Amino acid sequence: MLVNMKQILEEAEKNGYAIGCINTPNVETLRAVIGAAEDVGVPVIIDHAQVHDPLIPIEEIGPKMVEYAKKAKVPVCVHLDHGSDYNFVMRAIRCGFTSIMYDLSALSFEENVEKLKEFTKIAHDLDITVEAELGIMTSTEEDSHGGETGWTHETIKKTFTDPKQAAEFAERTGVDALAVCFGTAHGIYAEPPLLDIERVKAIRAAMPKECRVVMHGGSGVDDDQVRAAISAGCSKVNYYSYMATACSRHINEYLAEREGKAFWHEVQEEAYRFMRGYAADVLRVFKNGK
Ligand SMILES: [Zn+2]
Repeated sequence: MLVNMKQILEEAEKNGYAIGCINTPNVETLRAVIGAAEDVGVPVIIDHAQVHDPLIPIEEIGPKMVEYAKKAKVPVCVHLDHGSDYNFVMRAIRCGFTSIMYDLSALSFEENVEKLKEFTKIAHDLDITVEAELGIMTSTEEDSHGGETGWTHETIKKTFTDPKQAAEFAERTGVDALAVCFGTAHGIYAEPPLLDIERVKAIRAAMPKECRVVMHGGSGVDDDQVRAAISAGCSKVNYYSYMATACSRHINEYLAEREGKAFWHEVQEEAYRFMRGYAADVLRVFKNGK
């Protein structure tokens, strides 16, 4: 069933769990993530990242995402991840996406507010939900999202979201969800991240109730810290890098065992099976014991 973000995040927050948001840049990953959500019996958000568009254009993968979401036995939201320009956002809407992350975090606070306010009004009239980002999230060396690299537990603190500013942003723009910084980063972590859980609680308490708190860079974070962030108020967790790299390692072993003798469709199917199991484990963690 195809839904927007609001329809599933409200229920998640009320019941103390989070919805997983996983990139699906090919059909194997798409089948795996939706299959995993059906196995675990939870709603899911599948997303196409603008940075993945050179890999596969949204006009190719987007309609497939929408089609699979409609056929799924669980509610599925089709979301644009880090859409950073207006034309790209419009391409996602034309493909039938039900939710948009319009990431204007590179602009000043005031410009970010003005543009998101205007966009959110139009999106809501189309029944499309909106996520924004405040402050620039840190990335690791291997990642393509941009943002500062080479951080430490000490230096990353200067990027942390101010609860008061988050509240003002959410109130003025009317966005449905806000990605905030409290210790996670995009990509593969060089050292284990240390999350500021008290900050999540403060952000949650300060923001309007109808705006959800989002954790990006959720993969590679220790399960207990993920659960603590969910209990503190995160109801959407973005996850991708660790699943994608674990799958590559698995395929490496699979091919080594067969001395490289495998049909490509067998490799694809093995990747699909592996990721379906992996994504199911991840989605179980996000259920937070509920
Ligand atoms: Zn992100």
